[in-house]
Amino acid sequence: MPDTPVKTHEFKAEVSAVLSLVTNSLYTNREIFLRELVSNASDAAEKLRFEALSNDALYEGDSELTIRVAVDSDAGTVTISDNGIGMSRQEVGETIGTIASSGTRKFLESLSGDKARDSQLIGQFGVGFYSAFIVADRVTLTTRRAGMNADEGVRWESTGEGSYTIENVDRAARGTEIVLHLREDEKEFLDDWRLRSIISKFSDHIAIPVQMLKAPEPPEEGEEPQPATEWEQVNKGTALWMRNKSDVTEEEYHEFYKNTCHDFENPLTWAHNRVEGTNEYSSLLFVPSRAPFDMWDREQKHGVKLYVRRVFIMDEADKLMPHYLRFVKGVVDSDDLPLNVSREILQHDKKIDSIRSANVKRVLGLLEKMARDDAEQYQKFWGEFGNVLKEGPAEDFGNREKIGGLLRFATTRSEGDAQNVSLDQYIERMTEKQEKIYYITADTLSAARNSPHLEVFKKKDIEVLLLTDRVDEWLVSHFTDYKGKHLQSVAKGELDLGELEDQEDKEKVEKATEEHKHLIERVKTALGDSVKEVRVSSRLTESPACLVVGDYDMSQNLARVLKQLGQDAPMPTPIIEINLDHPLLNRMDAETDEDKFGELARLVFDQALLAEGGQLEDPAGFVHRLNRLMLDMSS
Ligand code: ADP
Repeated sequence: MPDTPVKTHEFKAEVSAVLSLVTNSLYTNREIFLRELVSNASDAAEKLRFEALSNDALYEGDSELTIRVAVDSDAGTVTISDNGIGMSRQEVGETIGTIASSGTRKFLESLSGDKARDSQLIGQFGVGFYSAFIVADRVTLTTRRAGMNADEGVRWESTGEGSYTIENVDRAARGTEIVLHLREDEKEFLDDWRLRSIISKFSDHIAIPVQMLKAPEPPEEGEEPQPATEWEQVNKGTALWMRNKSDVTEEEYHEFYKNTCHDFENPLTWAHNRVEGTNEYSSLLFVPSRAPFDMWDREQKHGVKLYVRRVFIMDEADKLMPHYLRFVKGVVDSDDLPLNVSREILQHDKKIDSIRSANVKRVLGLLEKMARDDAEQYQKFWGEFGNVLKEGPAEDFGNREKIGGLLRFATTRSEGDAQNVSLDQYIERMTEKQEKIYYITADTLSAARNSPHLEVFKKKDIEVLLLTDRVDEWLVSHFTDYKGKHLQSVAKGELDLGELEDQEDKEKVEKATEEHKHLIERVKTALGDSVKEVRVSSRLTESPACLVVGDYDMSQNLARVLKQLGQDAPMPTPIIEINLDHPLLNRMDAETDEDKFGELARLVFDQALLAEGGQLEDPAGFVHRLNRLMLDMSS
């Protein structure tokens, strides 16, 4: 036995927080501890199988992978053991008892202290190993990594209350053994049948056999009862995705999903397919009900696992699903790829490319079907994943039109903040002469709804999409046309309403520009470099002025978003459009004192900027000017 002392470590504060949260909020669902630990054991077995592909010695002469669940009624313990990859001391330190990922920290920050809400959140976060403490008041984990020496075993133990101990031990067997010392009131889990039924409920479709001891034959007259020694398989152990679609029940799909994808809720929908021919594979893809807590985390793992002939090859197989569908989870199992497929091979493999494009087609097809058949469910999907899907047109040019059909927006005709108008609906409702799809981008929905840019659209009863998510600017910069209709910002360039514009309006603007040349010049002089140009507006009916940017300039809103993100984006110099029908402009026209005129012009510019959610360069100056004007009025 190596002579190393037992070391006691304090849990990091986050771990204690997760532990108390897990035990409190999952109590009503406590049998999931077994699912979580069996699923970890199965991952460990599959990891070993994969590593052994290139290093057979890791099997240490025993390639039969199993997970065993054993009960010791006298000691009050349940033991889950596997002969998988195991962990080195360093790995135990890094994975058990610490929370390494930045995503977890963010998750903890998002907790509110409100139990009901938090227990929903915990469903989004895989509790994994910590679920052991729901039923146990002491957990002892003993492990040795495959390929290491017997004296490199590690024992980790904790009561889940602030600290854990870690020591080196001898361990001949590779893999991990977890002993749960059950709490006084959790003794129901010592019951053999109870454990068997949990295993078949949760772990039937884990491909690694999960075994328990077979009850011994009843003793013959006069003989001593024999202890159980024979193990038998408890789970079905068939990969669910290899079964015939028609033989799998909805409940089995649900359990499989929760088990392999570490989710607590049932999936929204799924697609299960078997492809025969030159590229044979099975795929089972799920759309979850809820976005994971780390969906926006760049290090987040991808959800589709790659198997080759039932052997798990890798997680994060981002080659199997594009980034904008990263919420999809599931399994692809290829019959044709080599077992030693590497990340590099994946990058260039034609078979993988064709699996990937079929995956995309299937998921988009699933979503189209959901949108068509169950609008309510689709809204739920959209609420969770809409902003991810909006990355699609930029990433996947080939499917732009299909993705476009799946987008949903708030518009000037929709109620509240619901994003429930599709582009097809929009097109159907377009007015007779309308050729384009109009949109406005803004920071908030009310800023968008009340923007002066919309005045003429209201007057002409033209619907406008209200885009207020950060990703929207990205979306419209890549998604410029849908079904032959151009997407046009209402705040860019000269307002081009095409056929919608009355000849009369056009002439009116031209005439006014000619007649008010002098006023336009004065405004230009007063505002100097703050504006690129002064124009007579045809978009305004109520406001005195608004700001627009040139056709090829970055939108003001995008520039603001980039600034908020800490990027050094130059604000585009705007064009100011003035409404000559507004009394304020008449008042300015009549002003003979050029200083006062300058103040008014500046005020008009600043309020146009404010109205679209912009920030004043000199807010105090604005307030002074406004006050002077108010005093002027009262004198
Ligand atoms: P997750 O499984 O979501 O990563 P867990 O808390 O369940 O989170 O486990 C943390 C890590 O501990 C795992 O990723 C794995 O590296 C390691 N681990 C847990 N159980 C085992 C096991 N039975 N064998 C080997 N490693 C394990």
